[in-house]
Amino acid sequence: MTSERTHRKDILRFGKMIHERGFIAATDGNLSVRLGRNRILTTPTAMCKGMMQSSDLVVCDLDGNRISGRRNVSSEIAMHLLIYRLRPDVNAVVHAHPPTATGYAAAGLPLSQPLLSEVIICLGNIPLAEYATPGTLELSQALEPLVPGNDAILMSNHGVVTYGEDLHVAYMRMETVEHFARIALVTHLLGQQKLLTDQDVEKLQSVRAKYVTALNHGHNNGGRERSSRQRPPAKTY
Ligand SMILES: [Zn+2]
Repeated sequence: MTSERTHRKDILRFGKMIHERGFIAATDGNLSVRLGRNRILTTPTAMCKGMMQSSDLVVCDLDGNRISGRRNVSSEIAMHLLIYRLRPDVNAVVHAHPPTATGYAAAGLPLSQPLLSEVIICLGNIPLAEYATPGTLELSQALEPLVPGNDAILMSNHGVVTYGEDLHVAYMRMETVEHFARIALVTHLLGQQKLLTDQDVEKLQSVRAKYVTALNHGHNNGGRERSSRQRPPAKTY
């Protein structure tokens, strides 16, 4: 089982990566890891996520109350807690504002076009949640119907949230979303999109089902193995 010390190191490492890659600016974004049934390790509010030390991180419970740490918990922790509650298979959440994907979210466009085979295999659909003020119950309500069947969600006029069985997977999903958004934007600049057919998408979804199973068996998820009952099949386009 991964130690808390390793989880802390991972949060510092991936916080630095989302900052260096321009997925966040200033004190934007937040990362968290599930340490136990009612313990979440998370980044603090009002601090650059690329310049943190282990002592800056905060441990809170599933209601967002601070258990340890000297800094304050971000109000955006609410979206992380919602995801942990709805998805027992998820052990890490990354929230950022990567410019291209957030541009789609601000334009009111989901990233749901079947354009790239790899994205359908790795991520499935990337829906767009309705706008709600960050840190409010309304935002949680907007996300709630989308959390069970997706691993990455665009939030209107705000940013992106991705999650997975560990922080590495959650971070990689954030990279995939932004990379896909850039490619989708290029197709708009070129003036045409050659979408995959329904038949192509169906084949890719059956590959995705195998990929998700392999991913679950390839990761130490602390015994919280994803069951098919916990998660509906990948969305159709
Ligand atoms: Zn945000």
